[in-house]
Amino acid sequence: MRPQSLPLTEVHRGVWLLDVDQFGVPGQGGVYILSGEPAALVEAGTSLARERVLAALGDLRITRDEVAWIFLTHIHLDHAGGAGGLLQELPAAKVVVHARGARHLMDPSRLVASVRDAVRERFPLYGTMEPIPADHLHVACDGEAFPVGGFKIRALDAPGHAPHHLCWFAEGERLLFTGDAVGLYLGGVLLPSTVPPSFDLDLSLSTLDRLMGLHPETLLFTHFGPGSPTLLSRYAELLRAWVERVDRLRRTCRSEDELVTAVLGAAAREGLVPPGLACGDLAMSVRGAAAYLARREGAT
Ligand SMILES: [Zn+2]
Repeated sequence: MRPQSLPLTEVHRGVWLLDVDQFGVPGQGGVYILSGEPAALVEAGTSLARERVLAALGDLRITRDEVAWIFLTHIHLDHAGGAGGLLQELPAAKVVVHARGARHLMDPSRLVASVRDAVRERFPLYGTMEPIPADHLHVACDGEAFPVGGFKIRALDAPGHAPHHLCWFAEGERLLFTGDAVGLYLGGVLLPSTVPPSFDLDLSLSTLDRLMGLHPETLLFTHFGPGSPTLLSRYAELLRAWVERVDRLRRTCRSEDELVTAVLGAAAREGLVPPGLACGDLAMSVRGAAAYLARREGAT
């Protein structure tokens, strides 16, 4: 049954990880496919992933009208950008999203503009975004459960990375789809994901506490693949250290670009991140942490 043509891996019985070659690089971004009746996706990838997702469904012998749900962890384009385009090919599917994200999916113009600001020269790699009609959206409540094949998938409010972030939990199997709430896990290295415009440290830490309380057996990262639940507490430590470092260095830096260089240099020297890895994402995470610190200062 394992397809040869696509980078599809069965990470748990009935749960497949499709590598969508995000930003043209393997092992950076994925879409999970839950087989069964009905079937579902967790994440949609960018719009550039559409043909690959449809091909993977075909290889898994999941017909297009069997997909009932596209569960989004949040509305950033690398997770939700492809949802509108996929809906045009999946006639029975609804997109499930946090209440705070729904209106941006119906009218993505502000969302797309904010991503363009955040990712700058990398914007073309994020594809486009089709608006999603209201009758194809389902706004998930915290704790709401969805039957999918043999699974029961529960929505969990998980703010911090963004206020519109949900994690998805397959209760019986204790599989936790983490989105970006537990950062990035690339090639066995845990990295911060504290991007603009709305990363919040305190919310992130309380979300991590909540996720630890679920006692998951396996974390399923969108970026990228399965990881041990011990990464939850490691990420809490990493986040604190990361934001402290940004806070310390921003006092001596005269511009944001200088701050990015200083933080990435210090982090590499101290072994927090391996040199040369995912630098675009990390630069964004420096900016997001700095924006959070500026907001926190403004509020006191
Ligand atoms: Zn992401």
